[in-house]
Amino acid sequence: MDKETTVEDLKILVKQLCEERDWDQFHDPKNLAIDMSVEANELLEHFVFTKEGESEAKLSDPKKRQEITEELADVLYTVLRFSQMNTIDLSDALKAKLHKVAAKYPVEKAKGSNKKYTEF
Ligand SMILES: [Mg+2]
Repeated sequence: MDKETTVEDLKILVKQLCEERDWDQFHDPKNLAIDMSVEANELLEHFVFTKEGESEAKLSDPKKRQEITEELADVLYTVLRFSQMNTIDLSDALKAKLHKVAAKYPVEKAKGSNKKYTEF
């Protein structure tokens, strides 16, 4: 459960799984970034050629929801593994990124808008 598990808890679980299998040797930054992209595209594959509203409907189908959830977990695994192997603090990184996004997209300009910040 998200409410009961920290990011550090997840990193430890990922580290244990990989170290038990001697996978550190394969998990350099390039390979993990490639894997992250592959897994993100496996998630995207569930939505290719869908019409408006169909992507939301997929998440209402229990079987498809489970498949999509597993792909999302694959993406998270690669993010956690990349950060764990390269000593990147994900909480600090996300907070810093959100701060940058908030500065680029001030509420008074961005609220309800899908414009890129360069279009303000
Ligand atoms: Mg996958």
